[in-house]
Formats: sequence, C-alpha cells, structure tokens
Amino acid sequence: MALVRRRSIFRLYCFSISVFACLRIFINCEPDPAPPSLTPINRDLYHSSGDLMEQISNLVHRHPDKLTTETIKTGNKGYNAELNVVTYCRNRKDGDDRTKFRILLSFGQHGRELITSELALRILSILSEEQFLSNMDPTSSNSVLDKLVIKVVPMENMNGRKLVEDGDLCERRNGRGVDLNRNWSVDWGKKEKDYDPHEENPGTAPFSEPESQMMRKLAISFDPHIWVNVHSGMEALFMPYDHKNTTPDGLPSERMRRLLEELNKVHCQKRCMIGSGGGSVGYLAHGTATDYMFDVVRVPMAFTFEIYGDAETSSKDCFKMFNPVDHATFNRVLNDWSAAFFAIFRMAPHQLDEIQAKGSLSGADKGISIDEYLDGYLIERTQRYEKKKEVLDFGMQEIRTYFRLFLLSSVLLMFMFCSRISKNKYSRPIASVMSP
Ligand SMILES: [Zn+2]
Repeated sequence: MALVRRRSIFRLYCFSISVFACLRIFINCEPDPAPPSLTPINRDLYHSSGDLMEQISNLVHRHPDKLTTETIKTGNKGYNAELNVVTYCRNRKDGDDRTKFRILLSFGQHGRELITSELALRILSILSEEQFLSNMDPTSSNSVLDKLVIKVVPMENMNGRKLVEDGDLCERRNGRGVDLNRNWSVDWGKKEKDYDPHEENPGTAPFSEPESQMMRKLAISFDPHIWVNVHSGMEALFMPYDHKNTTPDGLPSERMRRLLEELNKVHCQKRCMIGSGGGSVGYLAHGTATDYMFDVVRVPMAFTFEIYGDAETSSKDCFKMFNPVDHATFNRVLNDWSAAFFAIFRMAPHQLDEIQAKGSLSGADKGISIDEYLDGYLIERTQRYEKKKEVLDFGMQEIRTYFRLFLLSSVLLMFMFCSRISKNKYSRPIASVMSP
C-alpha cells in the first residue's frame, strides 16, 4: 500500500536531485556529496526473523493449554517456502469446534513491514497472559476469548523478510520477486498505468507462489468469520474492494463499516482512513488477498489494516517510512493496535450472534473442504465454458439465419430489377407511338 504516494515522492525526489546535480555542474562546484544515509533496522527494537519465530515457539511451549503451532511447507520450480501458523484456543480440545467464532490474522506479507510481525508477537503474548493491555479486565476478557479460535500467521513472507534483513530494505516481494498481495485470483494480473514490477509483480499466474497457495488452503479449511491482512506504510482501516472503487452492497458492507468506524474512533483517534482499499488509497490493487477472502472464501468481514507510516520520510528510506524507529513510537503503535485487535475479539461474538440470527454463514452451513471447493470450482468452470459454448452456438445460428434472409432478399431484388428492365424494354415503342 501507499504505493502512489511513494512513487510520486520518489519522482519528486529524483527530479530535485537531478536539478541540483545540473546546477552544481553548471556553476562548477565540488563533486556530488554522498547520497543521504538510509536508516538501518533498529536492532534494539526489532527482532531478527529467526529470533522472532523462536520467541513465538517458546511462547507456545510455555502455554500448551492455549497455543499450538504448525509449520506448512511447499515449493515449486526450485523455490521453497514455509508458513508458521499459531492457533489460540483457550480449551485446546475445542480447537476444531465449528460453533466458535473464527478469526484469521496475517502479518508480514510484505518483507519491509517489520513492525507488523512485532505486533503479531505482542498479540500472542497478551493472549498468553504474559503481557497485559491497560484497562483490560482479565475475567471479562477470558469469557470473551472462550468463544474464539484465532489463527495467527506471524510472518507470511519469510523469504522476503530475509532479503530485507540482508540489506534490501525496500523489498516487499517474496524470495523470487513476486508481490504476495497481487498473486490471488480476484481480478489477477490487471496492470495500472503506473505499474512497477519492482513493487507489484503479480507472478506468472494466480497462486503461482507457494506462500499464496498455503494461505489459500489455510483460509479455505479454517473458514474464518474475520480476516485481517496487516500491513504498514500508512494508517488505514480498509474493507473490500481493492480492485475497484466501491464497497460491497448491503448488510455485509454495513457491518464491516460499523466495526471500522468504532476502531477508528477508539483506537486510531480518527486518524485512520476508512473505506474500500481501491477507493481510499488512490490506486486500484488487483489480485489481493482481502478481495479473494471476501469474494471467494466468503469471509463475512475481510479487512486490510495499515498500522503505521511516516509520510515525511524520503521514499528511499524504507525502514523509516514503514516502521517506527524510536522506542516511544514503537510502543505506542504496538499498544494502540493490540488494543484495536482485542476490541475486535470483544465485538466478534456479538457479530456472530447477528450472523447466526440471520441464519446464514454459520460454520456448519459454510464449512467446505478444499477438495469440495476445488470440485465446485471445476464444475463452475466447466459450466461457464459450456455456457460460453451455448452462447457461441446460438450466435452462429443467428448469423446463418441472417445470411439466408440476406440471400433471399438479394434474389428478390435481382428478380424485381430484371423484371423492371424487361418491362421498360417492351413498353418503350408503345410510348413513342403515343408521343406527338
Ligand atoms: Zn504492505
């Protein structure tokens, strides 16, 4: 996100540098100074990816009554990726209870947005009751949390994150240069006028990337009621759609907007931008995870949160632009957004009651396996092709009918033309006889 602003700032930056360089040459000054220094990763505040995952693994081992973890691995064409998924469920044997409210949260889909994975760790620490939010009553919050199953993906793009840690501080794509938030199938591959492959490369096909394939499987099997894709680069609370400048119609849209307005008021001090990703951010994004979750997985509430951005920073200085660099801001961001997520956890069961009262989208009604999904998809695709074939056949029949009519009318015209000529030929002498 925040691509357009980043690009325009970058263009302005390049332009200013060139003008400045030209002026220097013109007035024959000393050689160009060194480029402005870029802010390095603040290792006092941020964990390395290895350390962060180890912290999470230790947390899971200390709280086996609440947390479990699994590692999924897959790969193709010599590229391998793995996904760590942490499941929070206060009574572990209820982990597969389909009557509970299910929440799926993903962090670190873009490599350079380190702060998001720190937020994942903070949320898991609070869920384990090793850290606490101010103004949080543990008893009432436990009764709320009893009704939930929360799955957290702390670092979706581990390979991309490693590139950032190795010094490529502006990298947002995965380990082979694909933007994981453009690799999903809804409106995949469409390119805007200012398309930049260094930022938004959608891959060779929808779900070409192992990371997206694993996330899709996870989402379809878990079948969440809420999905949040957590990013940084600005402060915003987005709902579908990213690929068009509108929000969905009716109740789902209303329900999502109400939740976001409440979060903005209480936890974002009304600073956050709200609305459809495509309508609010200034550019359309095609093939995003949130659009897929809403349109295909049919998650009733699907969001993208942007938790921090430094609008004053040069777009080249990526670490500073996407991540807080001082202790106070770092803690403020983690506290504010942990509180926002716990507000979602608190409001979620009420949303579930509302959804179940409407008799739709309950776990039992909605749960499908990936095989069922793929079967459904293939059937739908076959039907779609058959429908296209039908339309084509109908069109051909129409063309044939029109062609026959055209031939018939041509023959009729020819006949009329010929009969007219022959009539004139025979009537002319009579006319001359009649003339004076
Ligand atoms: Zn992002």
